[in-house]
Amino acid sequence: MILVTGGAGYIGSHVTRDLLDKGYKVAVLDNLSTGHLEAVDKRAIFIFGDIGDEQLLGQVFKRFPICAVMHFSSSCLVGESVRNPMRYYQNNVEKTIRLVNKMVEHKITRLIFSSTCATYGSPTGAVLTEEHVLNPINPYGRSKMMIETILMDLSESNGLNYVSLRYFNVGGAHPSAEIGEDHFPETHLIPNVLQHLQGKTNEVSVFGGDYHTPDGTCVRDYIHVCDLSHAHILALEYLAQTKLVAEIFNLGNERGYSVLEIIKSCETISNKKARVKVLAKRIGDPPLLVASSEKIRNVLGWKPKYNLEQIIRTAWNWHEKHPNGFPK
Ligand code: UDP
Repeated sequence: MILVTGGAGYIGSHVTRDLLDKGYKVAVLDNLSTGHLEAVDKRAIFIFGDIGDEQLLGQVFKRFPICAVMHFSSSCLVGESVRNPMRYYQNNVEKTIRLVNKMVEHKITRLIFSSTCATYGSPTGAVLTEEHVLNPINPYGRSKMMIETILMDLSESNGLNYVSLRYFNVGGAHPSAEIGEDHFPETHLIPNVLQHLQGKTNEVSVFGGDYHTPDGTCVRDYIHVCDLSHAHILALEYLAQTKLVAEIFNLGNERGYSVLEIIKSCETISNKKARVKVLAKRIGDPPLLVASSEKIRNVLGWKPKYNLEQIIRTAWNWHEKHPNGFPK
């Protein structure tokens, strides 16, 4: 059985569903602080609780035959992390320490960790390989970098086998349109633009128009949530087949799109026109983040299936079918 922390969240719910479709048994641990019970596949065992609750973790590891943990639950907003760094060090670093301590105690040696390209900081130019120096420029990125360091040390000292996946910008929704992105408040670009195009907001804010990028707006590498999910399953199979794994992989599509390009693409797919307002830069935003995903292609045989158009189209379908997100 696989324990999925944060399985009621956007990414965790997609991975839970894919794991179940592949025949894995899944237990989801989530405190529903940002996730939705409705997003959790009914075939999974749902455990309501916090990953920082050591007593609960002990009970879960005793009661269920967990062979691997996929750890999604975390705070993950760049802007919020600048305003409230301690939330990031507590929710991400401190609680992950408790989780991995309990894993070690219960001799659970396989972990897949949700990391981020925010660990790289503000690189200039070329696509990023995993060897690129880590120099995060916000507490969110720093919290994830700290966890990666802890995992590396634990693999040496206690034989923890882990894969850390550095996500670039995740978008899109399950092709069934039954699950998708539903945050409150929403801060991410694609859902913000689509919700504006649905008439829910008066305008789209563009944070910064004078970056040193081709059109002056930030460039990001967008990856479909189902491609991301597939990478997790490949990583799980890799951990099951390989001894002593301590690997880090980037997860992106190797193509950058600016904020304005994303807005344009959303307009084309929805066949609606956005009202755009350029505002000040958001603190903590690097201008350009584009992945090299050569390593994960070579080592895990991962290959993305969805392009930007399909990312936005599946997201649009989800928003059109669920204009208010999951039932609250
Ligand atoms: N962004 C924007 N308007 C929004 C939301 C985001 O201009 O309403 C920009 C943001 O400044 C960043 C990019 O879009 O440059 C992607 O932001 P998002 O929050 O989606 O993901 P992040 O890169 O912060 O993880």
